[in-house]
Amino acid sequence: MAAMLRYLTIPVTPFAQNCSLLWCEATRQAAVIDPGGDIDTVLAESDRLGLALGQIWLTHAHIDHAGGAGELAERLGLPIVGPHPGDQFWIDALPQQSQMFGFPPARAFTPTRWLYDGDTVSVGECTLQVRHCPGHTPGHVVFHSAQAKRAFVGDVLFAGSIGRTDFPGGDHDQLIASITQRLWPMGDDTVFIPGHGPESTFGRERRSNPFVGGT
Ligand SMILES: [Zn+2]
Ligand SMILES: [Zn+2]
Repeated sequence: MAAMLRYLTIPVTPFAQNCSLLWCEATRQAAVIDPGGDIDTVLAESDRLGLALGQIWLTHAHIDHAGGAGELAERLGLPIVGPHPGDQFWIDALPQQSQMFGFPPARAFTPTRWLYDGDTVSVGECTLQVRHCPGHTPGHVVFHSAQAKRAFVGDVLFAGSIGRTDFPGGDHDQLIASITQRLWPMGDDTVFIPGHGPESTFGRERRSNPFVGGT
């Protein structure tokens, strides 16, 4: 039988960023996606669920997604996986980002492993596909489980909206291409977990999202 993937989404930081604990039901091995902050809350949930948290995965390096990664990695000795090297400048700017947005001090770090389009990442017996989806940031990646029909898309796409592209390195046309060429092919019935707000499906967004509907 195929390994079962589970997840729990925990809103963190003043930006209510959807940090997700992701685990393989068979082994209870877990990864955390985008621990932007509120590390103690995330760790308490991981303990409550009896998970063995072993990795940090990052979609992109904005403060609300990556602000807690350096501290968490150091506290638990965890590897940081992702994002794509296009976000190096955002990682380097984490200390300034935390000041600018009034976050607790965040530290820059060097990912243990950069991610590229077509890579795979694994947690326990579950494997997810990595897609490079630039536009919101140059190094944004998305984690896709074809088996579970789930995609963790960070700030690429939201229920009824799309990611901002007015930050340094943002590119609207690139974002639209990422959504239509890399997310839509994952299938209309795929549920996506965005970086902010409620889940939706790609099919629903294709029909009704005012920014990418009908594409
Ligand atoms: Zn962002
Ligand atoms: Zn965000």
